[in-house]
Amino acid sequence: MRLDDRIAVVTGSARGIGKAIAEKLFERGAKVVIADLTQGDVDRACGEIVGGAGGEGRERVAGFACDVSKPDSVKALFDSVKKHFGGLDILVNNAGITRDNLFMRMTFEQWQTVIDVNLTGTYLCCRSAVSLLRKSRCGRVINLSSVAAGGNMGQANYSASKAGVIGLTKTLAIELARRGVNVNAVAPGFIDTEMTRAIPEEARRDWISRIPAGRAGTPDDVAEIVAFLASDGASYITGEVMEVDGGISAP
Ligand code: NAD
Repeated sequence: MRLDDRIAVVTGSARGIGKAIAEKLFERGAKVVIADLTQGDVDRACGEIVGGAGGEGRERVAGFACDVSKPDSVKALFDSVKKHFGGLDILVNNAGITRDNLFMRMTFEQWQTVIDVNLTGTYLCCRSAVSLLRKSRCGRVINLSSVAAGGNMGQANYSASKAGVIGLTKTLAIELARRGVNVNAVAPGFIDTEMTRAIPEEARRDWISRIPAGRAGTPDDVAEIVAFLASDGASYITGEVMEVDGGISAP
């Protein structure tokens, strides 16, 4: 399960699930790149991750501002990663947003913004990373989808983006398998982060009451699975979608 000397990029990792993933990969020995919208948030997250490890391993963390929905910004990120660490082994496409509304009221802007970040952002990062990953002995792409990929009230844009991520994941898995790059998706259920704290209290309670495990998931619940998929233990798993949802999609 160790990831010593592997080089990992985690997008949207200044907080929430992405930060927990970056922390986990760092704990397992990886060199980790934090990428998020603002340099201030990125620097704070880098400091917290190193601080959480007692100040050890500062040279194994780097942070770059990046908007994953912008082609030039994504290209600059991977140029910086190559320059700083010299390569790439693990890409975690975690950056994601919601702009919920009932379909009848959903604006084109709400639709497009979510597709741009969640789906096109994942595509752009894969596109920039693929040549670096092919040079790795153990390339891994792990994309954050969602149980909402199966459809969810008020989330036509988000569901479509996360279902698109699954299609992209499976196709890339097939195309890159012979190149030694494994591509998988993780589909969380209801995880306690700022994203779900924005949901009205009554709807939050309703969601949690329907989870067989009886609780919301934690960012660390998701990070454990991502770290496993990044490890040598998962070398024969590709094109898979792993639900991390306390059983909510079991029925
Ligand atoms: P969050 O809102 O707490 O964090 C998202 C992070 O992504 C933030 O740091 C934000 O600044 C960053 N980000 C947003 N747009 C970006 C962009 N254009 N470029 C770069 N970074 C950007 O969300 P979270 O709950 O931690 O979610 C992380 C991922 O997990 C998302 O893809 C989300 O869709 C997915 N997910 C979350 C849940 C949940 O219940 N929280 C469930 C299923 C899937």
